[in-house]
Amino acid sequence: MRELVIDLDAIAGNLHTMRAGSVGAKVMGVVKANAYGHGMVPVAKRLEAEGVDYLGVADIGEALELRAAGIKTPVLAWLHDPRETYLEAVRHDIELGLATIAQLESVVAAAKTLGTVAAVHLKVDTGLGRNGATLHEWPALVAEARDLAAAGLIRVVGVFSHLSVTSAADDLAQIEKFDAAVEQARNLGLEFEMRHLLASDGAILYPQACYEMVRIGIALYGFSPFIDHSADEYGLRTAMTAKSVVVQTKRVPAGHGVSYGYLHRTEGERTLALIPVGYAEGLPREATGAAQVSIRGHRYTILARIAMDQFVIDCGDDEVEVGDEVVLFGDPTLGLPSADSLARAVGTINYEIVTRMGGRFKRRYIGEVQ
Ligand SMILES: *Cc1c(COP(=O)(O)O)cnc(C)c1O
Repeated sequence: MRELVIDLDAIAGNLHTMRAGSVGAKVMGVVKANAYGHGMVPVAKRLEAEGVDYLGVADIGEALELRAAGIKTPVLAWLHDPRETYLEAVRHDIELGLATIAQLESVVAAAKTLGTVAAVHLKVDTGLGRNGATLHEWPALVAEARDLAAAGLIRVVGVFSHLSVTSAADDLAQIEKFDAAVEQARNLGLEFEMRHLLASDGAILYPQACYEMVRIGIALYGFSPFIDHSADEYGLRTAMTAKSVVVQTKRVPAGHGVSYGYLHRTEGERTLALIPVGYAEGLPREATGAAQVSIRGHRYTILARIAMDQFVIDCGDDEVEVGDEVVLFGDPTLGLPSADSLARAVGTINYEIVTRMGGRFKRRYIGEVQ
């Protein structure tokens, strides 16, 4: 009675759309955080079948789940527990994004234990201020990696960074710093196969800076990385539809309070419809009074307080029956409320809306399932 319908064909189409715009660069499909709520393994399997070059995740645990599911595509993980031993990651051929010499040393210890060579990508902070070596720390990290590579303990696959997408001036400054860091690494004798800097937003804005790979997340799922531009403008198609059903209807008199705190009272005799989705499923409680849902093609605002398990729609005198489908959000080009509109209603971004969907929602895959 609560479903996230995931259209894998839409995701495949979005991959090809982003690939076409990335001027020959490899494409990493970013499937962290359960593929932004879309379900990591089914999404990764379809991306693999579509020939994605890499898969990207934050945590090693996510990478290991991909391997356990039989995924063979190269996987990069870039956010690590300080106590991480890297043994399982190296054993399962997970490539590691690293920012510190301490991390390099731990990875090398794992490679030695396993008698193998660990594959790493070195991350430089070109201005985002998140993970990555500072420009000051960078030469020492590079020199250490160069020496470990020469000793046959690691293979440096890539050098990477991440943009803030604050303004064109800020981004271009980061691109320049990235180029300088790459140049410096080469001058220090570091050899590597690829540079990668851009996520979905950057890949759309700066095709000239795709380098050898781009890391695409939100666009794969059919969403625009920009609040002021729709996905449609980039030829991207929404993959997720969040649906439920009406589980009870009732006719109530005027002045009937509805849900906690009576944020809504009926203005006349009204039909109320009960929908079994609440904040436990990730529907933001603060969407009360702002979010819309679609029932029988009509839009209704959720006026009464969203609870943990359920919310109520005042349908007025409209026809509505138990079992009617309720769409919380889906493809706006089909006339449905969108994750973007829900995001706007609660002052967040589409990324957060789709990623937080969970709880008792069941995912159902449509399109070609691998
Ligand atoms: C999440 C993430 C991405 C993907 O970002 P999107 O904006 O969803 O395309 C790329 N690179 C890094 C380092 C990330 O953390």
